[in-house]
Amino acid sequence: MQLYNTLTRKKEDFKPIKEGSVGLYTCGPTVYGYPHLGNMRTYIFEDLLKRVLTYNNYEVNHVMNITDVGHLTGDRDMGVDKVERESAKTGQTAWEIADFYTTAFKEDLKSLNIIFPNTFCKATDNIPEQIAMIQTLEEKGFTYKITDGIYFDTAKVADYNKLSHQKIEDLREGARVEINAEKKNPTDFALWKLSPTGAKRQMEWESPWGVGFPGWHIECSAMSVKYLGEQFDIHCGGVDHIDIHHTNELAQTESATSKKPWVNYWLHSAFLNGIGGKKMAKSSGDFITVTNTFTEKGISPLVYRFANLSVHYRKPMEWSEEALISAKNGYENLLVKISKLGQKTGKLSLEYKDKFLADINDDLNMSKALATVQELLKSDLSDEDKLATVLDFDKVLGLNLRLETKADIEIPEAVIEILKKRETARQNKDWKSSDELRDEILKLGYQVTDADAGQEIKLI
Ligand code: AMP
Ligand code: ZN
Repeated sequence: MQLYNTLTRKKEDFKPIKEGSVGLYTCGPTVYGYPHLGNMRTYIFEDLLKRVLTYNNYEVNHVMNITDVGHLTGDRDMGVDKVERESAKTGQTAWEIADFYTTAFKEDLKSLNIIFPNTFCKATDNIPEQIAMIQTLEEKGFTYKITDGIYFDTAKVADYNKLSHQKIEDLREGARVEINAEKKNPTDFALWKLSPTGAKRQMEWESPWGVGFPGWHIECSAMSVKYLGEQFDIHCGGVDHIDIHHTNELAQTESATSKKPWVNYWLHSAFLNGIGGKKMAKSSGDFITVTNTFTEKGISPLVYRFANLSVHYRKPMEWSEEALISAKNGYENLLVKISKLGQKTGKLSLEYKDKFLADINDDLNMSKALATVQELLKSDLSDEDKLATVLDFDKVLGLNLRLETKADIEIPEAVIEILKKRETARQNKDWKSSDELRDEILKLGYQVTDADAGQEIKLI
């Protein structure tokens, strides 16, 4: 199995630390608002990765954090806490805000058929672990104190830029957008922020440095080490995390544990952009969600999952009405084709399984895997064998093929029989019979149209 590693910028053979098992950490949501479709692109990619690993017989131990404290409006520890800010706006407590949006996030995961991690861990449930890691960093001389908190001195880490591959100077330049004159280096970041004098925060804790709250990056370092150990296999997130969040997680964890590498494979998914390439961002407010794009319009959210299978995770993806329609047609077409196979399963085709494995093990080439599914459906295997094989592939695709084909498009046996005859007529270019069979189908209440991918059917 090959995966593209951001750390080496190469596709590499995947070798786990412990044979047969994988430790996987994926950065979770900051729970101050609804997740948008862009966020969900990253979680779908991570779910596919996990399913591919499982399909390859690895036992995956997956941990995801919930950021309920410490993520400030500025990425460089300036500004205000996003959860507390939402609380001030709405009058709900910070804890209520975090709970509410954590539930909303989990609902989105469910609707997209994303398998839950083995462990969800909240930053606020792991404060002592974060304090302990900061203390270790302090003992080892990596920290310094300024007016608003304890900071990590990035100049002490020679390979600070190894994940981003940017020159240190460029990283520093990028960091200058947020100026804190007391920091030794622009890239330095907060480990512990002190509560502002005279103002009481809702989420704050005692610490050896005074009452305050953890910086955003330390939670992932402390919790991943707690749940997966000081060294583990894979760490994921969206590409926006490479230069700041993951670079800082990496610098502080390896400095605290003195073990390298902390993580062997770093995988990042490209953005979902709005029309014209504009990044979809939670902070901009003008974003679309699973609920308002799909559920409320009576469209299955799995259409979005299908759309994500069609674009490689490292390529930017553009979202538009056309993209939605095309994914909807593609998904429904697939369901129709599978419905036509009937309900009886036969034998798994090893030939197609090998092809499918080669696709997914090539850095998750899911669009090629979808093409293999189409090839399988067109092949001369029996319907039973096709069904058994495609349902096996669905362990990775996660498109609910069995349930969706049964529940949503119930095509009566009689119609399926006519569709099959019509398919043969079409292949033989017998257009007269094909038209007659179309009329027969119409009499039974179904409309059939011919698309590139084959016959499409819907209720009239
Ligand atoms: P956040 O809740 O903002 O911390 O982001 C949660 C996850 O979504 C992170 O892994 C981000 O990298 C990812 N993300 C944010 N915006 C987008 C986007 N437009 N497309 C894809 N992933 C994104
Ligand atoms: Zn993280």
